[in-house]
Amino acid sequence: MELQFATKCIYGKKQPFSEDVFGAISVPIYQSATFVHPEVGRSTGFDYSRLQNPTRQQLERVVASLENGLDALAFSSGMAAITALMELFQPGDHLITDADLYGGSIRLFRNISEKNGIQFSHIDCSKEDVESYVRENTRAIFIETPTNPMMNVVDIRKMSEIAKRHGLLLIVDNTFLSPYFQNPLALGADVVVHSGTKFLGGHNDTLAGFVVTNSEDISARMRFIIKTVGSGLAPMDSWLILRGIKTLPLRMERAQENALAIVDFLQGEKRVRKVYYPGIPGTKDYEICKGQARGFGSMITFEVESRGLALHILKTTRLIPFAESLGGVETLITYPVTQTHADVPEEVRLANGITDSVLRLSAGIEDKGDLIADLKQAFDSFAG
Ligand SMILES: *Cc1c(COP(=O)(O)O)cnc(C)c1O
Repeated sequence: MELQFATKCIYGKKQPFSEDVFGAISVPIYQSATFVHPEVGRSTGFDYSRLQNPTRQQLERVVASLENGLDALAFSSGMAAITALMELFQPGDHLITDADLYGGSIRLFRNISEKNGIQFSHIDCSKEDVESYVRENTRAIFIETPTNPMMNVVDIRKMSEIAKRHGLLLIVDNTFLSPYFQNPLALGADVVVHSGTKFLGGHNDTLAGFVVTNSEDISARMRFIIKTVGSGLAPMDSWLILRGIKTLPLRMERAQENALAIVDFLQGEKRVRKVYYPGIPGTKDYEICKGQARGFGSMITFEVESRGLALHILKTTRLIPFAESLGGVETLITYPVTQTHADVPEEVRLANGITDSVLRLSAGIEDKGDLIADLKQAFDSFAG
Protein backbone atom coordinates (compact mmCIF):
# COMPACT_ATOMS: atom_id res chain seq x y z
CA MET A 1 0.00 0.00 0.00
CA GLU A 2 1.39 3.40 -0.99
CA LEU A 3 1.23 5.57 2.12
CA GLN A 4 0.23 9.22 1.93
CA PHE A 5 2.63 12.05 2.80
CA ALA A 6 1.42 12.72 6.35
CA THR A 7 1.71 9.03 7.24
CA LYS A 8 5.21 8.81 5.78
CA CYS A 9 6.21 11.77 7.99
CA ILE A 10 5.59 9.54 10.98
CA TYR A 11 6.65 6.10 9.80
CA GLY A 12 8.59 6.46 6.59
CA LYS A 13 7.63 3.87 4.00
CA LYS A 14 7.70 0.99 6.41
CA GLN A 15 5.08 0.99 9.09
CA PRO A 16 5.64 0.82 11.97
CA PHE A 17 9.33 1.02 12.97
CA SER A 18 9.85 -2.64 13.87
CA GLU A 19 13.56 -3.01 14.39
CA ASP A 20 13.71 -2.26 18.12
CA VAL A 21 13.59 -5.42 20.23
CA PHE A 22 11.54 -3.70 22.97
CA GLY A 23 8.96 -2.33 20.54
CA ALA A 24 9.70 1.35 21.16
CA ILE A 25 7.23 3.60 19.29
CA SER A 26 9.76 6.43 19.17
CA VAL A 27 12.87 5.35 17.30
CA PRO A 28 15.64 5.02 19.92
CA ILE A 29 18.67 7.30 19.92
CA TYR A 30 21.43 4.79 19.22
CA GLN A 31 24.12 6.78 21.00
CA SER A 32 26.85 4.31 20.12
CA ALA A 33 30.05 4.99 18.22
CA THR A 34 30.66 1.37 17.32
CA PHE A 35 28.79 -1.94 17.00
CA VAL A 36 29.63 -5.51 17.97
CA HIS A 37 30.42 -7.91 15.13
CA PRO A 38 28.73 -11.33 15.55
CA GLU A 39 31.83 -12.99 14.00
CA VAL A 40 34.58 -12.30 11.49
CA GLY A 41 33.05 -11.39 8.14
CA ARG A 42 29.59 -10.75 9.59
CA SER A 43 27.94 -7.47 10.57
CA THR A 44 24.60 -6.36 12.01
CA GLY A 45 24.59 -3.83 9.16
CA PHE A 46 26.20 -1.29 11.47
CA ASP A 47 29.94 -1.16 12.10
CA TYR A 48 30.85 2.38 13.10
CA SER A 49 28.65 5.47 13.35
CA ARG A 50 30.70 7.60 10.95
CA LEU A 51 29.51 5.19 8.23
CA GLN A 52 25.98 4.55 9.45
CA ASN A 53 23.90 4.61 12.61
CA PRO A 54 20.40 3.12 13.13
CA THR A 55 18.80 6.42 14.18
CA ARG A 56 20.34 8.21 11.21
CA GLN A 57 19.27 5.39 8.91
CA GLN A 58 15.64 5.68 10.00
CA LEU A 59 15.78 9.46 9.39
CA GLU A 60 17.29 8.90 5.95
CA ARG A 61 14.53 6.43 5.08
CA VAL A 62 11.85 8.91 6.12
CA VAL A 63 13.38 11.79 4.13
CA ALA A 64 13.89 9.55 1.07
CA SER A 65 10.22 8.57 1.24
CA LEU A 66 9.09 12.23 1.48
CA GLU A 67 10.99 13.17 -1.69
CA ASN A 68 10.19 9.82 -3.37
CA GLY A 69 13.91 9.25 -3.74
CA LEU A 70 15.89 6.05 -3.90
CA ASP A 71 18.22 7.26 -1.16
CA ALA A 72 18.68 10.15 1.25
CA LEU A 73 21.83 10.97 3.18
CA ALA A 74 21.78 12.95 6.42
CA PHE A 75 24.60 15.43 7.05
CA SER A 76 25.59 17.55 10.02
CA SER A 77 24.19 20.69 8.30
CA GLY A 78 22.84 21.91 4.99
CA MET A 79 26.27 23.32 4.15
CA ALA A 80 27.91 19.97 4.93
CA ALA A 81 25.48 18.38 2.43
CA ILE A 82 26.26 20.93 -0.30
CA THR A 83 30.01 20.70 0.41
CA ALA A 84 29.84 16.92 0.01
CA LEU A 85 27.95 17.32 -3.28
CA MET A 86 30.74 19.48 -4.66
CA GLU A 87 33.01 16.43 -4.34
CA LEU A 88 31.13 14.99 -7.33
CA PHE A 89 33.05 17.48 -9.50
CA GLN A 90 36.65 17.67 -10.74
CA PRO A 91 38.99 20.62 -11.19
CA GLY A 92 38.13 22.21 -14.55
CA ASP A 93 34.41 21.37 -14.30
CA HIS A 94 31.93 24.21 -14.80
CA LEU A 95 28.64 24.72 -12.95
CA ILE A 96 25.75 27.05 -13.67
CA THR A 97 24.31 28.37 -10.42
CA ASP A 98 21.57 30.82 -9.72
CA ALA A 99 22.94 34.22 -8.68
CA ASP A 100 20.39 34.53 -5.86
CA LEU A 101 21.10 31.72 -3.41
CA TYR A 102 21.52 31.17 0.30
CA GLY A 103 24.58 33.28 1.24
CA GLY A 104 26.45 30.27 2.61
CA SER A 105 26.20 28.48 -0.75
CA ILE A 106 27.56 31.57 -2.52
CA ARG A 107 30.41 31.72 0.02
CA LEU A 108 31.20 28.03 -0.52
CA PHE A 109 31.26 28.33 -4.31
CA ARG A 110 33.27 31.54 -4.44
CA ASN A 111 35.80 30.80 -1.71
CA ILE A 112 36.28 27.05 -1.59
CA SER A 113 34.95 25.40 -4.76
CA GLU A 114 36.71 27.97 -6.99
CA LYS A 115 39.97 27.39 -5.11
CA ASN A 116 39.46 23.67 -5.85
CA GLY A 117 39.31 24.43 -9.57
CA ILE A 118 35.55 24.46 -10.16
CA GLN A 119 34.31 27.22 -12.46
CA PHE A 120 30.95 28.97 -12.12
CA SER A 121 28.49 31.08 -14.06
CA HIS A 122 26.26 32.81 -11.50
CA ILE A 123 23.16 33.84 -13.43
CA ASP A 124 19.49 34.61 -12.82
CA CYS A 125 17.97 31.24 -13.75
CA SER A 126 14.46 32.67 -13.45
CA LYS A 127 15.07 35.23 -16.24
CA GLU A 128 18.19 34.51 -18.30
CA ASP A 129 18.65 32.04 -21.18
CA VAL A 130 20.31 29.34 -19.07
CA GLU A 131 21.12 27.10 -22.05
CA SER A 132 23.35 29.78 -23.60
CA TYR A 133 25.71 29.43 -20.61
CA VAL A 134 26.29 25.70 -21.15
CA ARG A 135 29.92 25.01 -22.10
CA GLU A 136 31.91 21.94 -23.10
CA ASN A 137 32.95 21.41 -19.45
CA THR A 138 29.59 22.21 -17.81
CA ARG A 139 28.53 19.43 -15.43
CA ALA A 140 25.57 20.71 -13.42
CA ILE A 141 22.92 23.36 -12.82
CA PHE A 142 22.40 24.32 -9.16
CA ILE A 143 19.23 26.21 -8.22
CA GLU A 144 16.93 27.12 -5.37
CA THR A 145 13.27 27.85 -5.94
CA PRO A 146 11.98 30.09 -4.54
CA THR A 147 15.40 31.70 -4.12
CA ASN A 148 16.80 33.00 -0.86
CA PRO A 149 16.05 35.79 -0.20
CA MET A 150 14.46 37.37 -3.28
CA MET A 151 11.84 34.61 -3.78
CA ASN A 152 12.42 34.28 -7.54
CA VAL A 153 10.74 31.17 -8.90
CA VAL A 154 12.78 28.98 -11.25
CA ASP A 155 11.01 26.58 -13.61
CA ILE A 156 12.32 23.17 -12.51
CA ARG A 157 10.93 21.28 -15.55
CA LYS A 158 12.58 23.75 -17.91
CA MET A 159 15.94 23.44 -16.10
CA SER A 160 15.60 19.67 -16.25
CA GLU A 161 15.05 19.74 -20.02
CA ILE A 162 18.22 21.79 -20.48
CA ALA A 163 20.14 19.51 -18.14
CA LYS A 164 18.99 16.38 -19.97
CA ARG A 165 19.82 17.81 -23.42
CA HIS A 166 23.41 18.45 -22.32
CA GLY A 167 23.99 15.56 -19.91
CA LEU A 168 24.16 17.80 -16.82
CA LEU A 169 23.03 17.12 -13.28
CA LEU A 170 20.18 19.27 -12.03
CA ILE A 171 20.60 19.98 -8.31
CA VAL A 172 17.72 21.69 -6.51
CA ASP A 173 17.97 23.14 -3.00
CA ASN A 174 14.39 22.49 -1.84
CA THR A 175 14.75 24.02 1.63
CA PHE A 176 12.20 26.84 1.20
CA LEU A 177 9.15 24.77 0.25
CA SER A 178 10.16 21.47 1.89
CA PRO A 179 8.98 18.14 0.45
CA TYR A 180 5.51 18.92 1.76
CA PHE A 181 4.97 21.52 -0.97
CA GLN A 182 7.47 20.57 -3.67
CA ASN A 183 9.21 17.42 -4.95
CA PRO A 184 11.93 18.37 -7.48
CA LEU A 185 12.89 14.75 -8.31
CA ALA A 186 9.39 14.26 -9.73
CA LEU A 187 9.95 17.35 -11.92
CA GLY A 188 13.20 16.02 -13.38
CA ALA A 189 15.88 17.00 -10.86
CA ASP A 190 18.71 14.51 -10.25
CA VAL A 191 19.58 15.65 -6.74
CA VAL A 192 17.61 17.44 -4.03
CA VAL A 193 19.35 19.25 -1.18
CA HIS A 194 17.81 20.37 2.09
CA SER A 195 18.90 22.37 5.03
CA GLY A 196 17.11 20.10 7.53
CA THR A 197 17.75 22.83 10.09
CA LYS A 198 14.77 24.68 8.63
CA PHE A 199 11.30 23.23 7.92
CA LEU A 200 12.18 19.53 8.32
CA GLY A 201 13.52 20.02 11.86
CA GLY A 202 11.11 22.89 12.36
CA HIS A 203 11.94 23.91 15.93
CA ASN A 204 15.16 25.93 15.65
CA ASP A 205 16.84 23.45 17.96
CA THR A 206 19.38 21.66 15.78
CA LEU A 207 21.18 21.66 12.44
CA ALA A 208 20.98 19.04 9.68
CA GLY A 209 21.32 18.68 5.93
CA PHE A 210 20.17 16.19 3.29
CA VAL A 211 21.04 14.99 -0.17
CA VAL A 212 18.29 12.96 -1.86
CA THR A 213 18.64 11.23 -5.23
CA ASN A 214 17.19 8.56 -7.50
CA SER A 215 20.59 7.71 -8.93
CA GLU A 216 22.32 4.62 -7.55
CA ASP A 217 25.64 5.99 -8.73
CA ILE A 218 25.26 9.34 -6.93
CA SER A 219 23.98 7.60 -3.82
CA ALA A 220 27.03 5.28 -3.73
CA ARG A 221 29.43 8.18 -4.31
CA MET A 222 27.80 10.25 -1.55
CA ARG A 223 27.90 7.30 0.88
CA PHE A 224 31.61 6.96 0.15
CA ILE A 225 32.07 10.69 0.89
CA ILE A 226 30.15 10.54 4.20
CA LYS A 227 32.21 7.53 5.27
CA THR A 228 35.45 9.21 4.24
CA VAL A 229 35.03 12.78 5.45
CA GLY A 230 32.81 12.12 8.49
CA SER A 231 30.09 14.71 7.95
CA GLY A 232 27.12 12.45 8.76
CA LEU A 233 24.45 13.55 11.23
CA ALA A 234 24.85 12.50 14.88
CA PRO A 235 22.26 10.17 16.50
CA MET A 236 20.72 12.75 18.86
CA ASP A 237 20.32 15.29 16.05
CA SER A 238 18.88 12.60 13.79
CA TRP A 239 16.26 11.91 16.42
CA LEU A 240 15.37 15.58 16.79
CA ILE A 241 14.81 15.90 13.03
CA LEU A 242 12.77 12.68 13.00
CA ARG A 243 10.56 14.14 15.68
CA GLY A 244 10.28 17.46 13.86
CA ILE A 245 9.19 15.77 10.62
CA LYS A 246 6.23 14.10 12.33
CA THR A 247 4.42 17.47 12.40
CA LEU A 248 5.75 18.82 9.07
CA PRO A 249 2.35 18.85 7.29
CA LEU A 250 0.61 20.63 10.19
CA ARG A 251 3.37 23.21 10.54
CA MET A 252 3.63 23.90 6.80
CA GLU A 253 -0.12 24.50 6.50
CA ARG A 254 -0.29 26.77 9.54
CA ALA A 255 2.87 28.72 8.63
CA GLN A 256 1.56 29.30 5.10
CA GLU A 257 -1.78 30.50 6.47
CA ASN A 258 0.10 32.97 8.70
CA ALA A 259 2.31 34.04 5.79
CA LEU A 260 -0.73 34.83 3.63
CA ALA A 261 -2.17 36.99 6.41
CA ILE A 262 1.14 38.82 6.84
CA VAL A 263 1.46 39.38 3.08
CA ASP A 264 -2.00 40.87 3.12
CA PHE A 265 -1.03 43.20 5.97
CA LEU A 266 2.24 44.24 4.29
CA GLN A 267 0.48 44.97 0.99
CA GLY A 268 -1.84 47.35 2.82
CA GLU A 269 1.00 49.15 4.61
CA LYS A 270 1.96 52.21 2.57
CA ARG A 271 5.59 52.33 3.73
CA VAL A 272 6.21 48.90 2.23
CA ARG A 273 7.65 49.33 -1.26
CA LYS A 274 7.44 45.78 -2.44
CA VAL A 275 6.44 42.36 -1.14
CA TYR A 276 8.23 39.33 -2.61
CA TYR A 277 6.08 36.23 -2.16
CA PRO A 278 5.30 33.71 -4.90
CA GLY A 279 1.69 33.34 -3.75
CA ILE A 280 0.64 36.79 -5.00
CA PRO A 281 -1.50 36.15 -8.13
CA GLY A 282 -0.90 37.94 -11.40
CA THR A 283 2.84 37.30 -11.77
CA LYS A 284 4.86 34.82 -13.83
CA ASP A 285 6.40 33.49 -10.59
CA TYR A 286 2.94 32.72 -9.24
CA GLU A 287 2.01 30.71 -12.34
CA ILE A 288 5.28 28.73 -12.39
CA CYS A 289 5.13 28.04 -8.64
CA LYS A 290 1.52 26.91 -8.97
CA GLY A 291 2.52 24.57 -11.79
CA GLN A 292 5.29 22.82 -9.88
CA ALA A 293 4.44 23.10 -6.16
CA ARG A 294 1.46 22.37 -3.94
CA GLY A 295 1.82 25.62 -2.00
CA PHE A 296 3.71 28.89 -1.77
CA GLY A 297 5.32 28.41 1.62
CA SER A 298 5.87 30.81 4.46
CA MET A 299 8.91 32.85 3.45
CA ILE A 300 8.29 36.52 2.73
CA THR A 301 10.78 39.17 1.69
CA PHE A 302 9.76 42.80 1.70
CA GLU A 303 11.34 46.14 0.99
CA VAL A 304 10.40 49.09 3.15
CA GLU A 305 10.67 52.78 2.33
CA SER A 306 14.05 53.39 4.02
CA ARG A 307 16.96 51.78 5.84
CA GLY A 308 15.86 53.70 8.93
CA LEU A 309 12.47 52.00 8.90
CA ALA A 310 14.05 48.57 8.35
CA LEU A 311 16.31 49.07 11.36
CA HIS A 312 13.41 50.41 13.41
CA ILE A 313 11.31 47.30 12.69
CA LEU A 314 14.19 45.02 13.69
CA LYS A 315 14.53 46.95 16.96
CA THR A 316 10.87 47.31 17.90
CA THR A 317 9.11 44.04 17.19
CA ARG A 318 8.31 42.63 20.65
CA LEU A 319 7.14 39.16 19.77
CA ILE A 320 9.04 38.43 16.56
CA PRO A 321 12.76 37.90 17.22
CA PHE A 322 15.41 39.45 14.98
CA ALA A 323 17.38 36.29 14.21
CA GLU A 324 18.93 34.35 11.39
CA SER A 325 17.33 31.13 10.11
CA LEU A 326 13.84 30.13 9.05
CA GLY A 327 11.34 27.33 8.89
CA GLY A 328 10.77 26.92 12.62
CA VAL A 329 7.67 27.27 14.75
CA GLU A 330 8.86 30.77 15.73
CA THR A 331 8.36 33.65 13.30
CA LEU A 332 11.74 35.28 12.70
CA ILE A 333 12.84 38.47 10.95
CA THR A 334 16.22 38.56 9.24
CA TYR A 335 18.27 41.42 7.80
CA PRO A 336 19.99 39.75 4.82
CA VAL A 337 22.50 42.59 4.32
CA THR A 338 24.24 42.00 7.65
CA GLN A 339 23.22 38.39 8.33
CA THR A 340 22.59 35.62 5.79
CA HIS A 341 24.14 37.52 2.88
CA ALA A 342 26.84 39.54 4.69
CA ASP A 343 29.66 37.66 2.91
CA VAL A 344 28.16 38.10 -0.55
CA PRO A 345 30.05 40.82 -2.49
CA GLU A 346 28.13 44.10 -2.42
CA GLU A 347 27.75 44.34 -6.20
CA VAL A 348 26.25 40.84 -6.33
CA ARG A 349 23.93 41.64 -3.45
CA LEU A 350 22.68 44.85 -5.05
CA ALA A 351 22.29 43.21 -8.45
CA ASN A 352 20.07 40.62 -6.75
CA GLY A 353 17.98 43.41 -5.19
CA ILE A 354 19.16 42.91 -1.60
CA THR A 355 19.28 46.54 -0.47
CA ASP A 356 19.60 47.82 3.09
CA SER A 357 15.81 48.30 3.17
CA VAL A 358 15.07 44.61 2.54
CA LEU A 359 13.82 42.36 5.35
CA ARG A 360 13.11 38.64 5.23
CA LEU A 361 10.44 37.08 7.38
CA SER A 362 9.87 33.39 8.09
CA ALA A 363 6.31 32.93 9.31
CA GLY A 364 5.96 30.53 12.22
CA ILE A 365 2.89 28.90 13.69
CA GLU A 366 1.88 31.46 16.34
CA ASP A 367 -1.50 33.20 16.32
CA LYS A 368 -1.62 35.34 13.18
CA GLY A 369 -3.43 38.19 14.96
CA ASP A 370 -0.56 38.46 17.44
CA LEU A 371 2.00 38.51 14.63
CA ILE A 372 0.21 41.23 12.68
CA ALA A 373 -0.37 43.32 15.81
CA ASP A 374 3.37 43.12 16.51
CA LEU A 375 4.33 44.20 12.99
CA LYS A 376 1.71 46.97 13.07
CA GLN A 377 2.99 48.47 16.32
CA ALA A 378 6.53 48.42 14.87
CA PHE A 379 5.43 50.31 11.72
CA ASP A 380 3.19 52.70 13.67
CA SER A 381 5.90 53.70 16.15
CA PHE A 382 8.26 54.88 13.40
CA ALA A 383 8.63 58.63 13.41
CA GLY A 384 11.16 59.00 10.52
C1 LIG B 1 20.05 27.55 5.73
C2 LIG B 1 20.16 27.18 4.32
C3 LIG B 1 21.23 26.41 3.85
C4 LIG B 1 22.35 25.97 4.77
O1 LIG B 1 21.91 25.08 5.73
P1 LIG B 1 22.58 24.94 7.19
O2 LIG B 1 21.78 23.85 7.79
O3 LIG B 1 22.43 26.27 7.87
O4 LIG B 1 24.01 24.59 6.98
C5 LIG B 1 21.26 26.05 2.52
N1 LIG B 1 20.28 26.44 1.67
C6 LIG B 1 19.24 27.19 2.08
C7 LIG B 1 18.20 27.59 1.09
C8 LIG B 1 19.15 27.58 3.40
O5 LIG B 1 18.12 28.35 3.79
